[in-house]
Amino acid sequence: MVTPRHLARLAGRRAALLAELQRTPNLMRGIVYVRQRKCGRPTCACAHGGPRHPGLPLNVTVGGRTRTRYVRQAERATVEAWIAAYHRLWALVEALTEVNVALLNARPAGRPTP
Ligand SMILES: [Zn+2]
Repeated sequence: MVTPRHLARLAGRRAALLAELQRTPNLMRGIVYVRQRKCGRPTCACAHGGPRHPGLPLNVTVGGRTRTRYVRQAERATVEAWIAAYHRLWALVEALTEVNVALLNARPAGRPTP
């Protein structure tokens, strides 16, 4: 038996999730990681077995095509925040789905869904 208190808690959770959804910041899908690479200068130590240069490739698949673009250090925090917002959005979708299923299950048959 679902208590009115339980229903109210679910509705409150749904309202909080919807409010956060509406505050979703700019976002993007993608993966950024550190990769050691050669710079391409033939005289650099990296071309002769020396230490390589850390780079930040950004991999994004759009329309079935994966593109890679190196992220500048100055862009790193912004790009990582966009990607984090993308993952948070999906977490919100999952949580909202769970709450809505619980609300659907909690309503007695014949009562309209708000
Ligand atoms: Zn180099």
